[in-house]
Amino acid sequence: MSELLTRLRAFEGRTIVPVTWGPDPVNTPMIRHWAETMGDTNPVYLDDDAARATGRPGAVAPAQMLQVWTMRTYADKMSGADPSPVWTELIATLDEAGFTSVVATDSDQEFFAELRPGDRVSTTEVVESVSAEKQTGLGAGHFVTTLKTYRNGDGEIVGTQRWRTLRFRPAERPASRALRPRPALNEDNASWFAAAREHRLVIQRCAACGVLRHPTGPMCGECRSTDWDTVDASGRGTVYTFVVNHHPKIDAFDYPLIVAVIELEEGTRLIANMTGVEPADVHIGMPVELDWIDVDPELTLPAFRPATREEN
Ligand SMILES: [Zn+2]
Repeated sequence: MSELLTRLRAFEGRTIVPVTWGPDPVNTPMIRHWAETMGDTNPVYLDDDAARATGRPGAVAPAQMLQVWTMRTYADKMSGADPSPVWTELIATLDEAGFTSVVATDSDQEFFAELRPGDRVSTTEVVESVSAEKQTGLGAGHFVTTLKTYRNGDGEIVGTQRWRTLRFRPAERPASRALRPRPALNEDNASWFAAAREHRLVIQRCAACGVLRHPTGPMCGECRSTDWDTVDASGRGTVYTFVVNHHPKIDAFDYPLIVAVIELEEGTRLIANMTGVEPADVHIGMPVELDWIDVDPELTLPAFRPATREEN
C-alpha cells in the first residue's frame, strides 16, 4: 500500500462530526415550509386526524427532511468555525497529493422510524471508507464515503445517510476524448436506459392506479403499488426550466452545455440536453420535441430540440 493510501486509510472510522443536536426540535412550521416548497401535499405531515387514519399517533415529519433537523444554523456557519477539523485534515491530505477536484457521486439514505413534532434529533458522522486510487472518466481519484447516523431523543437510530464523493486529479490533456459519464444503472432504471438505446422514450406507469412517474422507481408514490409497466412518450413537451453550463469543462461534453428540465405533454419531467438551438434562444415554455444523442455504442440519451410544428 502506498504511503498516501496508508495515511488516507487511517481516516476510516474516524469521527468527523461528533454527536450534534439539532438547534430546534422537529416542528410543524418547518414541516409546513418544506412541504409547500416541495409541493408535497401528503396530509400526514400536517393533519393529525389524517395521520391517525393511517395508524400513526399523529402528524409525522417527512422522512426526507431528516437532514434538515440537524443542519448548522446560519449564525454558526457565518462564525467561520471549522465544525470538522478531521474532515479538513483529510481533504488537505488529498489536496496535497494533487486530488484537488471533487464531484459528489451518490448518496443513499435509510429511514428506520418516523419523527414527530417535538422530537429532538442528533447526528454524528464518520469516515466510512477511502478507496484505493481509481481511474475514472474525470481523472484518477479516491472515493471518500462518509456515514451520518441520526438518532432521536431516546438514542434510537431513526435514519442513516451515506455520502460518496470522488476526490480526483483533473486530467490535464486527455489523449482521446473521455467517455461521457455513465449513468449509475440499477434495477429500477436499467430498462429505461435500455429503451433509450432503441430510441424509445418510455415513462414508467403504475400498473395499479395508472399514475406516470419519472425518474423510475420501485414504488408508486400515490398508491404504493410495486407493479408497473411503461408507456411510450409522444416526445412533445416544453422547457420547464434550464441552465447553461460553462464551467467546469469536462472533456466529454461540448460547451456551452444546455441542461434543461423538460415537461413532457404526458406530465412527467426529465432532465435532458438540448440540440439544434443556441443557448440565448432557449426560453421557459418553449415547445420542444424529442431528439436522440447516440453518445457512444453503450449510451444513448434523449435530448430535445425546438418543436418544428405548432401544437394543435
Ligand atoms: Zn399507483
